[in-house]
Amino acid sequence: MPRPIEALIHQAALAHNLARARALAPDAQVWAVVKANAYGHGIENVFEAFRAADGFALLDLDEAQRLRQLGWRGPILLLEGCFEARDLELCSRLKLWHAVHCEQQIDWLAMHKTHEPHRVFLKMNSGMNRLGFMPQAFRAAWTRLNALPQVDEISLMTHFSDADAKRFGQDGIAHQVAAFQAATADLPGERSLSNSAATLRYNQRSEVRADWVRAGIMSYGGVPDFPEHDQGHWDLKPGMTLRSEIIGIQQLQPGDTVGYGSGFTADRAMRIGTVACGYADGYPRHCPTGTPVLVEGQRTRTIGRVSMDMLAVDLSELPQAALGSEVTLWGQGPKGQVLPIDEVARAAGTIGYELMCAITRRVPVTVEPLT
Ligand SMILES: *Cc1c(COP(=O)(O)O)cnc(C)c1O
Repeated sequence: MPRPIEALIHQAALAHNLARARALAPDAQVWAVVKANAYGHGIENVFEAFRAADGFALLDLDEAQRLRQLGWRGPILLLEGCFEARDLELCSRLKLWHAVHCEQQIDWLAMHKTHEPHRVFLKMNSGMNRLGFMPQAFRAAWTRLNALPQVDEISLMTHFSDADAKRFGQDGIAHQVAAFQAATADLPGERSLSNSAATLRYNQRSEVRADWVRAGIMSYGGVPDFPEHDQGHWDLKPGMTLRSEIIGIQQLQPGDTVGYGSGFTADRAMRIGTVACGYADGYPRHCPTGTPVLVEGQRTRTIGRVSMDMLAVDLSELPQAALGSEVTLWGQGPKGQVLPIDEVARAAGTIGYELMCAITRRVPVTVEPLT
């Protein structure tokens, strides 16, 4: 028997979450963001669930190619555009739309030989300071692009650094929205501003509303503004479950320790279970004692340090737990109980995004198809 760990991909939950993005932005088209192999879920595993999207947004040409091979003929957007001039050939061949965020990418386009002009998303740096043209340089970039025979429609895009922040104004995204609106006011073209956090929190504001939203983490059931809000608040469902089983049981006496570095010392008699899941599966090693976990759907806590292939859980209050009991590291328990990935991420000092993306290759993936 293989090691009893697996990642379950819940296509019905993914479809539900994408529908939430659409409901929150009813006048917009929705990009399903599937970069990083669909946030670790596997592009092939999420494709059916996200078919209702208006397009797929990602970064890797290889992933774009896989989407075309799956039969997707609709829009695909390369969020970072091309990494070298040659990439434009594949954009032409696969009909990819691509971001343009710097002068060099315009230079490449100007030299590109293509029969069909490209649709591009011109990116503004409105304060994130990662990619994009500064507001004062934006119009010149647009004018240059607009003069190229290689370019068809030009859409306008920016990305928020603080859409998950407590407030819209000042320390939130208000200044980014204002910078974008001011610099693009009289330019034609479709607009795309919001990521998941802005779609969830701010799409009711007319200055944030746009033609396209880019739904990433929310489509997978992750909450960008956790712990201010949780999955229940936004009506999102876990798209991924990481589950395993108890493969060993130990009885502890007061003073006994658990795991490497004797990181946990029992202060009373305890029963603990050893779970076939460790950091080599993608479970964060930084999770301290007390990280929430479900055993047969009931909440308990981890004990001691996470090792490469195993971790320990407290069974003192779970007398029915035994060898073979199902353990939910995050996601949906056996009877639909939910352990949000955001809670586990928080215990590890990180965000749900990182945990999803970090599931390792040795973890077998099972897809629960749409019914
Ligand atoms: C990843 C990404 C998104 C999606 O962000 P989420 O927070 O996951 O919704 C949107 N836009 C760009 C440019 C991105 O890189």
